[in-house]
Order: sequence, then structure tokens, then C-alpha cells
Amino acid sequence: MKLTQELLQSYARLIVRSGANVRPGQVVQLTISVDLVPFAEMLAEECYRAGAKKVNVDWSCDALTRLHFQYAEEEVLGTVLEWEEAKARQMTADLPCRIFIASEDPDALAGIPPEKLSNVGRSRAKVLRPYRSAIDGKHQWVIAAYPSEKWAKKCFPALSAEDAVARLWDAVLRTVRIDGEHDPVAAWQAHTEFIGAKAAWLNAQAFRFLRYRSANGTDFTVELIPEARWEGAGAVNSVNGAFYIPNMPTEEIFTSPLAGSCEGTLVSTKPLSWNSQLIENFSITFEKGRAVSCKAEKGQTLLEQMIAMDECSCMLGEVALVPKESPVNRCGFLFYETLFDENACCHMALGSGFKEVLPGGDDLTVAQAKERGVNDSIIHVDFMVGSEDLAIDGVRADGSVVPVFRDGTWA
Ligand code: ZN
Repeated sequence: MKLTQELLQSYARLIVRSGANVRPGQVVQLTISVDLVPFAEMLAEECYRAGAKKVNVDWSCDALTRLHFQYAEEEVLGTVLEWEEAKARQMTADLPCRIFIASEDPDALAGIPPEKLSNVGRSRAKVLRPYRSAIDGKHQWVIAAYPSEKWAKKCFPALSAEDAVARLWDAVLRTVRIDGEHDPVAAWQAHTEFIGAKAAWLNAQAFRFLRYRSANGTDFTVELIPEARWEGAGAVNSVNGAFYIPNMPTEEIFTSPLAGSCEGTLVSTKPLSWNSQLIENFSITFEKGRAVSCKAEKGQTLLEQMIAMDECSCMLGEVALVPKESPVNRCGFLFYETLFDENACCHMALGSGFKEVLPGGDDLTVAQAKERGVNDSIIHVDFMVGSEDLAIDGVRADGSVVPVFRDGTWA
């Protein structure tokens, strides 16, 4: 499928209407690369057509971000300036619709010491997290992608820049269900309904544990939080009731497991790109809910650093189910972008969980959610465990066992 102005326009419309679901009178905060001014205009116009009060833009630039990390002191970069904090505070009043366009070069920060990246992230998060947490669940947001040349070349190094971009666009359009024939808004309606029905089934089963088995060595049991819900595809803004789709594409149904209660070994089935570096062919072994050992053919030190980022980064924050038929998986290549890669197959995340899966979760503080079992950490890193033969069983409180996945897909 070749990208045309028409398809691009329908993509912009899909992001604004089905994704963010911008409501009349809302402020929109758009984060997009300086390389994408025409697409930013297209999105802004769609937002205004949907009734947005004002569209504000945060421009990003890979090259400048890299220069900052190369030259500026860690302490300087880790400091949140007063005006930045005021901006974050303003968001808690405006509750803007946020639209993020991912187009980054996966290698933009290659060679920057991971400790510098994580220390900067950590000290900024200390100041900004309370603001982020104050708007959680109370605003609509969406992340969608726009293939840049560097990103496309990373995925398809053997192709010319032009062919690589065309190939990546083709994949992106497929995964967001744009085919130039059918109405993508209607396709997303059907897709979110299917995922919603699966999530409702999981919720009705009230599983206490999920058991994972695969011939690759995965042998793992995770405990779930009894009152936590499975969610997927869409979310509802608790302030105005607007339904929105935070990730485009999205194929997963997820929940937050009981932090500190899982046992066994998970074997990765796809490489993990973290801080612009790859961790490949790895496994993580858990005892009493904590990662106690890990083994990676490539990126061992990086994986160890990730697990040791803070006190709770060794515990799980997410369990997600994705069947192997996912269009992302069918694309058959690594996107080097979590938005896509995490929608390829079943995965887990180390680090922070989602308080919104708890009843009334949006109004809980991070500490309250943690008391009820939702992990809290400065990281949230997804890693893939879905395989062709993955079997998952659900175990209810009375000990009865129900097949959930067989051969990598819904049983
Ligand atoms: Zn996920």
C-alpha cells in the first residue's frame, strides 16, 4: 500500500477522532517532531474541526535531544525548571487531550551512557510524577506513529531510504487498519468491541493465577489482584466520559498483577530495545515476585541495570495477552518501537503498574494503589514472551483450571 495524501488525511482523522476523540471545547497538547510540520498542521486542523478550543504543540527533535545528552551536565538535564513545573501544573487544570506522534530514530541516543539517561529520567520523574499521576484517567490521550527515514532504515537496513520508508508506512497503515477501501473508523469500532468482549470474559472468570508454559523454557505463574480488571483497546476519561484509544495500533488486553507474587522463568521471544540498545535472547527468573536472576545472550549488563533501576523495578507491573495472529506479528519484523512491538504477542512489563485497573483507581494515589498490589517504579519496560506454542491456563480461587491460550492464541 502506497502512502497518498488521502490516506494520510484519513490517518490524521483516525488519530484525532477515534484515538484521542477530541471533544468540543477541549485543549489539545500535540507532541510531534520538528520534521513533521505538515502532518502537525493536518492534525491541528482535524482537532479544530472536532471543536478543539486550542491546539498547543510541543516540538521535539532527535538531534537536539542527543546533543543535550552529549554535552549538558546530568544535573542540569535532570533539573525541572520552574516554568516546566508550572506547565505540568497547568495540565492538571486544563486536562488537555494529548496526542503524541512517535517518529524517533531508535538509535538517536545510542552511545549515551545508560546511567546518564536513567539518572536524568529518575530525577525529572521525582518532580513531574505527581502531576502526571493527577491527570491519569482524567484526560484523553493517544500515541500513534509516523515513519521517519532513520527509523525506517533501522528496520530495513538493506533497503534504500525511500523504499524503507514506503515499507514501514505500509506496515503502519496495516496495523492501524487503514487499507484504502474500508472505513478505518468502523474497523476500529469492530476491533475495540472484540477486545472488549475478551476482556469482559476474563473479568467474569475471576482468575487468581495465570500459568504460562512453552517449549522454549517459559514456566511461570503469576498471581492477579482479585479486584483488578482486565482492560484493552479503549479507555474512558472519568471526567467527561469520552471513550478514547490510547495506543494505535493496539492488540493487547492487560492488567496489573499482584506485585511481589510470581514464580518461575520467563523466556523472551523477541529482542528488547531499551535506551537505544538491544537486549536479545534473554530469560528472567522470579522468586517471591522479584526478578532474582537473568541471562541474556546480548545486553546482559543493560538487562541487569534495568532490573535494578529502583527498589521495585524487579517486580512486574503488567501482564498482557496478545494472540499470535496480531497484524503487528504478521508484519514479521522488529519495529524498534514499543508501540508496535508490544502488540506483537503476549508480554509482561517490569516496573510500574496501572492503578486504573483497580475499582476507583483513578482517584487513588500511587501509594494507595501500591498498598493494593499495583507496582510502582520509575520504569515500565515491556518484554515479549508470546511464542507459537505458548499455553496459558487461568486458575480460579477454587482451584479450577480454564485454558486461556493454546498454541499462542485464544484457546
Ligand atoms: Zn502492554
